[in-house]
Amino acid sequence: MSIDDLYDPNLEAAQERARITASERAGLTPIQDGQKLHLTCSACGKAIVEVWITHPKDPRQSNLAATCPFCGDKSYPLPVNGVFHVAGENGIYIIDIETLPNLTTFITKAR
Ligand SMILES: [Zn+2]
Repeated sequence: MSIDDLYDPNLEAAQERARITASERAGLTPIQDGQKLHLTCSACGKAIVEVWITHPKDPRQSNLAATCPFCGDKSYPLPVNGVFHVAGENGIYIIDIETLPNLTTFITKAR
């Protein structure tokens, strides 16, 4: 008997279905392709910050922007529904967050 004999693709698929069902029951939606958004500089066009929507049904609404570490301009504002997580794009990190009532701006720096 080899390790390959223990591999059961049907079991793996069933576990994945169970995982998704459990998170749906908890009101969470697994991250899917297309739910990753980007704050992109309005002047030089570089991607600055990645935004993942993790709880799209949450009633929270946000308006996000980021400063560009390359040219000093900013991204266009991005309206986001639900709960999200952010990270700097490759080579960029977030050093501060400026919160106004209608706009949250991520201040960034290049590595
Ligand atoms: Zn720029």
